Amino acid sequence: MPQRLSARQILDHLVSFPTVSRDSNLALVDWVEAYLNGWGVTAHRVYNADRTKAALYAHIGPEVAGGVILSGHSDVVPVDGQDWSSDPWVVTERDGRLYGRGTCDMKGFNALALAAVPLALEAGVKRPLQIALSYDEELGCIGAQPMIAAMAAGLPRAAAVVVGEPSQMKMVNGHKGGHGFRVQVEGFEVHSSLAHTGVSAIMEGAKLIDWANRRNAENAAARPTPLAAMFTPPWTTLHVGTIQGGSAENITARDCHFGFGFRVVPGEDPLEWVARLRDEAARLEAGMQAVRPEAGITLEEVYYVPPLVPEPAGAAEALVRRLTGDNGTMVVSYGTEAGQFQLEGYSAVVCGPGDIAQAHQPDEYLEISQFEAGWRFMQALVEDLAA
Ligand SMILES: [Zn+2]
Repeated sequence: MPQRLSARQILDHLVSFPTVSRDSNLALVDWVEAYLNGWGVTAHRVYNADRTKAALYAHIGPEVAGGVILSGHSDVVPVDGQDWSSDPWVVTERDGRLYGRGTCDMKGFNALALAAVPLALEAGVKRPLQIALSYDEELGCIGAQPMIAAMAAGLPRAAAVVVGEPSQMKMVNGHKGGHGFRVQVEGFEVHSSLAHTGVSAIMEGAKLIDWANRRNAENAAARPTPLAAMFTPPWTTLHVGTIQGGSAENITARDCHFGFGFRVVPGEDPLEWVARLRDEAARLEAGMQAVRPEAGITLEEVYYVPPLVPEPAGAAEALVRRLTGDNGTMVVSYGTEAGQFQLEGYSAVVCGPGDIAQAHQPDEYLEISQFEAGWRFMQALVEDLAA
């Protein structure tokens, strides 16, 4: 028999790997794989292009459909410049809390899911438990999709997915989608006294940004659908968070680039918003090129987090309600990988220990009471799968 590790002991191991998104997560993946192998469970890896990171998934139980996927991300946000009272890579217990980077977001959930593996084996589950561990979630959910596709293609189809992002163990069945672009505006430099013969990338970029302002005003003034009304604010928002450009006061700017993001309410098609952005960029570009043919606007997709659309009578929602007794309805303002599972045809919800308010913070912590509630959830899940 392999040595039995408690969820808390597993958490100590997971937190000790500084899996900041910019760095490799392979040491953590090696550890998880060895742990699973110790229980006779095969782990499958899905590498990134340069094989510096991997997602991992596993199947526990009979080769039948109808199981449950527990999904988490292995990466964490950096601690650079943050003031920590204790080593962020060591779980430190004080005041009924477990301090450490990732305890809340979301290695606490991952530890609970991994601790449930021997439980599921011993209970002789009749429906399988599947584990999914992604990377690069904190960079805009860019690492999970190939893993989800591999699971959909290679494993018996699970009936429900629980993404364990911190929700205080409440059932969350919806969030907005996120879609980010890098907009590159190429102008033509002339002395600003002759601005009509050049193209200012800044002035043209400003037109595209003002287009976003006008859409925001329009969206805010429109009457929300019942689905959109669940969200705060109940409309799709467009936002520019960073901008750079220009070289001097008296020169039309040759370059202007900015980060452009959508937060799309479920029920609206994110791709339609992209098409509208592209149309507007093309319209502006035509005007720029009428002055200087080398001018232009290019859009580069940086991330896409599909919305999580509440499913009427969804299997994942029913499961989590059964296990937690939570009869409320909650949506959240942050994006998760649950929408990506949904796009692959899975029924998915978010439910995990901890409060998102503690995520990404210095002195990030998970309440021990939340960790214990998470463990009760895992026990109830295994019982459910064994029934
Ligand atoms: Zn997270």
